[in-house]
Amino acid sequence: MAQPLLEVNNIHCGYDGVPVIHGISIKVFPGELVAIVGTNGAGKTTTMKTIAGLIHPSQGTLSFRGENITGLSAHETVQRGISYVPEGRRLFSKLSVRENLELGAYIVKDRGEINARLDQAFELFPILKSRADQMAETMSGGEQQVLAIARGLMSKPVLLMLDEMSLGLMPSMVEKMMETIQTIHEAGVTVLLVEQMVQEALEVAHRGYVIQTGKIVLQGTSQELLDSHEVRKAYMGM
Ligand code: ATP
Repeated sequence: MAQPLLEVNNIHCGYDGVPVIHGISIKVFPGELVAIVGTNGAGKTTTMKTIAGLIHPSQGTLSFRGENITGLSAHETVQRGISYVPEGRRLFSKLSVRENLELGAYIVKDRGEINARLDQAFELFPILKSRADQMAETMSGGEQQVLAIARGLMSKPVLLMLDEMSLGLMPSMVEKMMETIQTIHEAGVTVLLVEQMVQEALEVAHRGYVIQTGKIVLQGTSQELLDSHEVRKAYMGM
């Protein structure tokens, strides 16, 4: 079997000494689209932040492309090819769409390269091109979410981590958002996404992990999870 792109090995972490994640292990293989699903407060965001280097594990290890990345800073994980798009968009609302995108390429110094990446973003998301000079705050919630993802792609990540992209979107927009995520994945980016919208996420992902109070309680192919009695009962109201 291929070497995992990302390997999270038995990590424990929390906030101010209060443990939140109790021994989580996750693998993402090159080219996969993997979902971590679970309810509010289960520890999904904390897991993502730990992979991104925003929080450091008290135990356990993280490796990326076969190298140990445990303890690296967020800046260093971006340089290694990990991009984290946090929950809640976190855009610079008073800056233009183009300026927000350029900030996503902060690790790049070459103007020509930044412009080439902007062109790619505009090609992938034409809506952003037509709004390039508009302030981010003037766009709809769904458009802002697309901008947040496009900004995450500006660092040309090998692994794109998306945290609750469906949050605050109307149901019809959630489906569109999942299609956008699939498009990015088809363009060659490995994707790890976190979602409370369990069914919608598993419908686009290859594999999934179900997280509950800081532990992985189930894992499998998306189809296995969608067919699972536990998942259907606990997360899909069936
Ligand atoms: P959500 O969908 O609400 O983001 P989640 O599954 O991503 O849920 P986390 O945000 O990882 O869950 O939260 C896991 C636990 O950690 C929760 O009990 C939460 O209260 C706690 N927690 C999260 N962020 C902090 C923080 N900055 N300081 C202290 N505790 C935190």
